[in-house]
Order: sequence, then structure tokens, then C-alpha cells
Amino acid sequence: MNDPIEFRKAAHELIDWIADYHENIDRYPVKSQVKPDEIKSKLPESAPADPVGFDNIMKDFEEIILPGITHWQNPRFHAYFPGNSSYPSLLGEMLTSAIAAQCMIWETSPAAAELEERVLDWLKEAMGLPINWKGVIQDTASTGTLAAILTAREQVSNYSINKAGFEHSNYRIYCSTETHSSIEKAVKIAGFGSKSVIQIPVDQNLQLDTSLLKEAISADLNNGLVPVCVVATLGTTGTCSIDPLKPISSICKKHNIWLHVDAAFAGTALLLEEHRGMISGLTDADSFLFNPHKWMFTNFDCTAYYVKDSDALVKTFELLPEYLKTKTHGLVNDYRDWGVPLGRRFRALKLWFVIRSYGLEGIKAKLREHIRLAELFEDWVNNSPDFEKVIQRSLCHVCFRFNPKEVNEERELENLNKKLLEDLNASGEMYLTHTKVNGKYCLRMVIAQTNVNEDHIKADWALINQLKPQV
Ligand code: PLP
Repeated sequence: MNDPIEFRKAAHELIDWIADYHENIDRYPVKSQVKPDEIKSKLPESAPADPVGFDNIMKDFEEIILPGITHWQNPRFHAYFPGNSSYPSLLGEMLTSAIAAQCMIWETSPAAAELEERVLDWLKEAMGLPINWKGVIQDTASTGTLAAILTAREQVSNYSINKAGFEHSNYRIYCSTETHSSIEKAVKIAGFGSKSVIQIPVDQNLQLDTSLLKEAISADLNNGLVPVCVVATLGTTGTCSIDPLKPISSICKKHNIWLHVDAAFAGTALLLEEHRGMISGLTDADSFLFNPHKWMFTNFDCTAYYVKDSDALVKTFELLPEYLKTKTHGLVNDYRDWGVPLGRRFRALKLWFVIRSYGLEGIKAKLREHIRLAELFEDWVNNSPDFEKVIQRSLCHVCFRFNPKEVNEERELENLNKKLLEDLNASGEMYLTHTKVNGKYCLRMVIAQTNVNEDHIKADWALINQLKPQV
């Protein structure tokens, strides 16, 4: 398709399709029910030689592709952490695609660089982050953490590993046993080897045990090892537990260790003054990230990454080949030097649309409503004879399990809960995932989808009760 008239017609049709999709999203099973290879078997093995029209492609999209889609925008999606979106975000993303600018440096689209700086400063202020920090958008939290670990590596080695590679392998990176797998991945990519990751045990609330962290660091220092970085998590993936930042930051400060804070999901809650307690100690951290693409109604991908010392970040990544030399270099932010990829999408635009369209107050109202719904769900669990909460609720995240009084054996409880999870997800009505809390298999109810309301969670609770296994 290369004809503007044809494009206009197809695009108008597509907008109608998108609006219908969002209005009728509950017509699709939340979790795709296809079997492995089912989609692939319907696609030709070689690329088509001849062109086909939009109508044909859309027909195949609806018949072949859509059944293999899990509908993350369904308000009854409660699995993992959400990857939520919103109409304003979608509009911003459409413009980003339409412009299709590659925003690697200021010169390749000054507005992209300056809007990025501005919206990240807005969020920094609105969330109570240290005012002297600088922000940059990374594609994902995994990339943000990689940037942090690489910068910490360079700082601890006085920028020598970038040039000369590793001279020894005595480095240590600390996190808790509940930390997201992206930390180990970043450590592996950074060349430390996963043996350098020291997973500190957690307490009963699945928060990093700071006395054990202190002991581990002291023991390592005594043995001539080199602590590089501690990763604290605000909102662990399993239970949304919040690591105690203040004591962790004091330990890091005492030993001059880079402190990276992964608040991928829970960070958005910092917009709410009543949840700022979790960042006490943040001023002594070195880097912090959260994902607007999780709980801030901004479609994937969009990670806000903040650093105390942006010079250290740039020094870690900067390369200046002839073809990227510009007159403005050094006067402006060339974000290609602030992370791994050279090429960058114009992600700030969708964030700008979201923040302006909802206003901070609109976003906060939604977050508070999600937390209220989680409290309600928690009450239902607490008052049910057949279910129990397995750990304290954190924000809009409740871990619970089926625990009828007739059953006392852990193994049997695990099987019953696995069966319940399978039946719920096979119903197509809602989607949940599981975790383990102190050895107990349980279900995670994350109430954070953009458009979730009380009717949705009432229907969820009714379905959970309806499908609970017979004992
Ligand atoms: N950190 C935490 C705590 C997470 O829960 C997740 C994903 O759920 C990540 C990092 C990775 O996020 P991303 O997909 O943006 O890399």
C-alpha cells in the first residue's frame, strides 16, 4: 500500500476496529486458549511473493492472529504485573508511529529529547524523587537495570573494564532471593558471571533481611571481594513486597556501594503522598527505575530510569564515531549515550499524552481506586471460610489461596490451588498467575488494569468461589 487515499480509508477502518476492540474486549477470552504451534501452522512457511490488500490482511489478523492474543487490556487481567494502556497512550503511540522518528540524538529530533527531559522532570517532582537526579526513558526495566549495573561496574573499576576488560572476578552484586530475574540477567550480560550474584534471604514478609546483607558484605570485604552494587526492590514480582530502603541505603553509603532501586511496578504509587514512606533513604541511592508501562496507563514499552550522577552513566556508554559528531554535542542531552541502544523510539510522546490527558490528579484517583478495590478483595478473602491471605496485601496486590478446613496437607493444598488456577484461566473470564510464599503455593490477584472496577472484581470473586475444587 503506497497510495494516500487507500491509506486514509484503511486507517479510518482501523480506528473503528480499535475502538470496537476496546469497547468489546470482554468478548475475547482474557488468556489465549491456543495450543503450541496452532498459530504457526496457519501461516505459510515462506513469505508471500505477491501483495495483498488491507482487507485481506485484517481478515487473517482476526481469524489467525487474534485467537493467539492474550488480552492484557481486559479489566479482568490480574496476572503477572499489568502491561496496561489507555486511550491517550494509544493516541500518543499512533503519532510516534506516524512520525517514525529515530531519536538517537538531540539533532535527530530535538523535540523528542527535550520532551523526554521535561516529562521525566515532571514525574521526578510529582513522585518526590531527589530533585538533582536526571531521568531517561529506557525500553524496559531489564535494560534500565543493565545500565545501572554497567555504570556501577565502571565506577568501581575506575572505568577500566570498558577499556581493558576484567582483570579479576572478585566482584559481588547483592539482591534478595525475591528479586526479579532481570538482575541476574544484567549481571550475566555485564560479564560478572551469575556466580557474582549474592541472593540475600528475606524475612517472613519477603523483604530483604538487612542484617544478613550487612553480614554478607562484611564477610566479602574481609575476604578481599569487591562489592559493586546492591539492588533493592520496591514491589517484588511475587508478592509486591517492599525492601527496607533506608537501612539498605545506609549500608551502601557506609561501604560506598552503588544502590540501584528496582521499583518497576510499585514505583507508580509514589505519585500518592501516602505511599512515599517506601523511598525514605532514596537520596543515598544511585539509580532508580519504574515502569509507566506497568501501572501508569502508558503502553509498553516505557521505563523511567533516574540516576544521581548522569556523567557516570554517559561515561559508561559514550562513543563518538565520526558519523555522530554534531555541533550541539555536549550542549544538549544525546540520549544514545544514556543506555544500551543507539536507536531510540519517541516514547516520551505517549507519556506526555497520558500525563496531560489524565492530569496527575486523574492518575492518582485511578491508583487510589485500584488500592481500594484490592482492600475490598482482601476483606472478602479474610471473611471467607475457604480462602486465606498468605501475606500482607501490598498496594493493589493480594496473595491468597484456597484453604478449606477439611484439608491439612500442604501438597494437597498446592494441587487444589493449581487446579483452581487452571480452571479460572481456562474459563477465559479472568487471568491470574501464582507464586510461592514461604513454601505455600498461592494465587496472585493484581488489581491494576486501567479500566478495572468494582463490578469486575465482584465477578472475579464469584467465579473463584464457583470454581473452587470439591474436597
Ligand atoms: N523488575 C520487577 C520487580 C518486575 O516485576 C519486572 C517485570 O515484571 C521487571 C523488573 C522487568 O520488567 P521489564 O519487562 O520492563 O524488563
